[in-house]
Amino acid sequence: MSWEEYVRKVVPYTPGEQPKIKNIIKLNTNENPYPPSPLVYKAYEETELSDFRKYPDPTCSVLVDSIASFYDVKKENVFVGVGSDDVLSMAFLTFFNSDKPVLFPDITYSFYDVWADLYRIPYKQMPLKDDFTIDPADYYGENGGVVIANPNAPTGVKLPLDAIEDIISHNRDVVVIIDEAYVDFGAESALPLIDKYDNLLVVRTYSKSRSLAGLRIGYAFGCEKLIKYILDAKFSFNSYTMNMPSLILGAAAMNDREYFEETTAKVVATRERVKVQLKELGFEFGDSRANFIFARHPEKAGKDIFDYLRAHDIIVRRFDKPRINEYLRISIGTDEEMDRLIEVLKEYLGK
Ligand code: PMP
Repeated sequence: MSWEEYVRKVVPYTPGEQPKIKNIIKLNTNENPYPPSPLVYKAYEETELSDFRKYPDPTCSVLVDSIASFYDVKKENVFVGVGSDDVLSMAFLTFFNSDKPVLFPDITYSFYDVWADLYRIPYKQMPLKDDFTIDPADYYGENGGVVIANPNAPTGVKLPLDAIEDIISHNRDVVVIIDEAYVDFGAESALPLIDKYDNLLVVRTYSKSRSLAGLRIGYAFGCEKLIKYILDAKFSFNSYTMNMPSLILGAAAMNDREYFEETTAKVVATRERVKVQLKELGFEFGDSRANFIFARHPEKAGKDIFDYLRAHDIIVRRFDKPRINEYLRISIGTDEEMDRLIEVLKEYLGK
C-alpha cells in the first residue's frame, strides 16, 4: 500500500507553446495580434499600486458592471473567472453532478474531457459529421449535461442559433453550456436565449476578441438562479479569484466598444483574405468563423508542413489526435504576419 494509491491522478491539458525566442511569428494559441484598447493603457497608468496591499473586491463589481452594461443584462446574470478556462472548470464542477454522461463532440476544445476526468464526471463524445458539423439530434438522448463550443474549436465551424436552441430545448432537465470563446469573429451568440432558458450558460473570454489573454479574464451569462449556484461553488473554492489589475483593466477594455469592433473586423478581414490565398495553394478547410483557420493539404503531411513552418520561425498548432492529425490550426495574425506565412507556404509547395 502506498500514498500514491490515493492520489487524484489526472492527464493534464497541454497548452500551446509560449516560446521565449523573439521575432517568431506566433500563430499557435489564437491570441489577438492587436494590442489592448488605449483605454486599458490609460487605466494602467492611473492604477494605484499602493492599493495592491489590500484584497480585491470579491464581488468583482467594477468588472461585472462593465460587462452587464456592454451586453445590456443585469449584473445578477454575470459570472467572472480567471479566463474562461476557470469559468468552464467551475461550471463543470457546479452543474455536472449526475451519473449520466455529459455530452460534447469528439472533436472540440480538448480541455472538456480533462475537467470531466478531474471531477470524475462521466462523459460521452459524440462524433462530428465528416464535414465537422454537429447534428443536433445527437444531443437529444438522456444525459447529464451538454457542452458545445460555438464556433467550435479547433475546427472554427459554427452552429446556427436555431440548432443551438434546438439542443437547449431538448435538454431542459440539464445544464447546457455554450462556449463562445470565438463568437465575436462571426457566429451568432446564444446570449439572447438566457431569458428563455434557465438551463443555459453562455461562456465568453477576454483572451481573443478583447486582446487580453495575459490578464486571464473570462465571464459567463445565465439566469439569476444559475449564476447564484456557480457563485456558491466559486466562493467555496477561492473568494479572490480575480486580481485587482484584471478587475480595473478588464472593465476599461469592456468600455471601449469602438476599438473592440474595429479590431475584430480587422481580424475577420484578414481571415477572409487568407482563406482565398490558402485555397489557391490547395489547402482544404471548413468555413471558419473564428480567429483561426483549421486546414490540411491533400498532398502534404500535416507534420511536415508544421516542421517546415517551425524551421522558418512560424509556429502553428497541430493536434496529434484521430481524425485531425493532418490538420494545422493557424491563428490569424497581422496582415504582415499572414503575408509571411503565405510566402513560406509557397516556398514549401514550390509555387
Ligand atoms: N474555450 C475554447 C474553445 C478555447 O479555445 C479556449 C482557448 N484555449 C478557451 C475556452 C479558454 O480560453 P481562456 O481561458 O483564455 O479564456
